[in-house]
Amino acid sequence: MQFQKINHSYIVHVEEGEKVMQTLTNFCIEKGIHSAQISGIGAVRNIDIGAYDITNKDYIHRIFEEILELLSFQGNVAIKDGEPFLHAHITLGTHDMEVYGGHLFEMEVAAVGEFIIHDFQNKNTLRQYNDDIGLATLKLCNL
Ligand code: ZN
Repeated sequence: MQFQKINHSYIVHVEEGEKVMQTLTNFCIEKGIHSAQISGIGAVRNIDIGAYDITNKDYIHRIFEEILELLSFQGNVAIKDGEPFLHAHITLGTHDMEVYGGHLFEMEVAAVGEFIIHDFQNKNTLRQYNDDIGLATLKLCNL
């Protein structure tokens, strides 16, 4: 992983073979990034994505082992249980230019992973477990 800091933002290059969610989450912990917007592009493999089934309060999973284009990664960082937590959704492209996408659990960089993190410099962006939804949802306050 390589990075460059520009003002309160970071350009992060997650390199071949590195896990994206693990690398970016660890980066946020190390840099004290508690509230942020993250976007990215690249090429990835061993992708675990899903969709949330509100009725069963559980995720449907699908694994893609092959190399796919990471067309778009959109995510945010908030504090959950005292630690930076990354929530991200992705859009993937096949070599036939078909598109898949979903909630991202984990994936590995196959060629490059190029991400931009905008650190909002805020410690009050929180996630708390919501019984009705069955997930830790954003709990925002304006302090
Ligand atoms: Zn999600």
